[in-house]
Amino acid sequence: MKYNFGAGPGKLAKEVLAEAAEAVQNFNNTGLSILEISHRSEDFIEVLNETEQLARQLLAVPDTHDIIFLQGGASSHFAMVPMNLLPDDGTAIYLDTGMWSSKAIAEAKKFGKVSVIASSVNADYSFYPKGFTVPKDAAYYHFTSNNTIYGTGTFETPQVDIPLVCDMSSDIFSRDIDVSAYSLIYAGAQKNIGPAGMTLVIVKKGILGRTGRDIPTIFDYGVHVAHRSLYNTPAVYAIYVTMLNLRWLAAKGGVSVIEQENIRKAALLYQEIDDNPLFSGTARKEDRSRMNVTFVMNAKDLEYEFSTFASQRGIVGIAGHRHVGGFRTSLYNAVDLKAVEFLVETMREFTRIKQ
Ligand code: PMP
Repeated sequence: MKYNFGAGPGKLAKEVLAEAAEAVQNFNNTGLSILEISHRSEDFIEVLNETEQLARQLLAVPDTHDIIFLQGGASSHFAMVPMNLLPDDGTAIYLDTGMWSSKAIAEAKKFGKVSVIASSVNADYSFYPKGFTVPKDAAYYHFTSNNTIYGTGTFETPQVDIPLVCDMSSDIFSRDIDVSAYSLIYAGAQKNIGPAGMTLVIVKKGILGRTGRDIPTIFDYGVHVAHRSLYNTPAVYAIYVTMLNLRWLAAKGGVSVIEQENIRKAALLYQEIDDNPLFSGTARKEDRSRMNVTFVMNAKDLEYEFSTFASQRGIVGIAGHRHVGGFRTSLYNAVDLKAVEFLVETMREFTRIKQ
């Protein structure tokens, strides 16, 4: 038995994996594999439609917004967002809360001016900067809602008067959000959506086509919206498994139900980190992520021993990001409360041995 706390690609539910495996051999009793059907076949169009419908229903996406499924990962949107929304002579406002937002900033600078409104870089990205006002005369405001590497998250929708853009790669579908407040949301699939290979984009109608830039066709959001994700061959299998995963989430009761579970899971683990004399959290308490819990051991030399102890008990994927060290346990939707209880029990057991 393995307890997978990997940061991404993250854990998927057993039932989802079983159905995904079946479809590789025999998709919908067609006698064909999902890997060998046309993306323009009726069967796949049904999959695409249902995936979109599920995403729309689970996130309460209003009719004012389109949903598209693209390849290229979240990183491709670091460039596609400015390409599509930032005129050459325009300015985009970015919040710098970690490596992913820094990468987004670096790409945006290739297309126009960038103003970094605030940054927590000098505090090792351990918190979310607050108390700034986003100017009204910029092309858009971009932020990252959950910093996968540093274990920080924000749960508030920024109040801005310009188009709001968010990288929600590591917390989408983990909590209710007000999609209507956003002009564009993007998220790599490999945490709470499905397998790697697909990126979900939610884009408000009417915000595209205003930069005056001749955008390469494949990077033009408008083209993908017009072709309903079928401009070219989409990530057929990743979309199929996403459909299965979103069905699983809907059957559990949807995002507000999983959000309550996620709150309980994170609270349990943070409580242990705060109570246990061997461990310390790295993110500021008020900005702690519910998805990625980062911590270190107060005695550095125990870290290797604890890793070995945990891995002997079947706990995998808890090494901290190479830029941060220590530990990171990711509590994505498919990681259940029992797994977190087991992790906490393992931390306690280790502490008993050491004391
Ligand atoms: N943004 C965030 C918040 C992420 O966590 C990641 C990947 N972990 C990325 C962007 C990059 O995603 P991809 O590898 O799909 O390009």
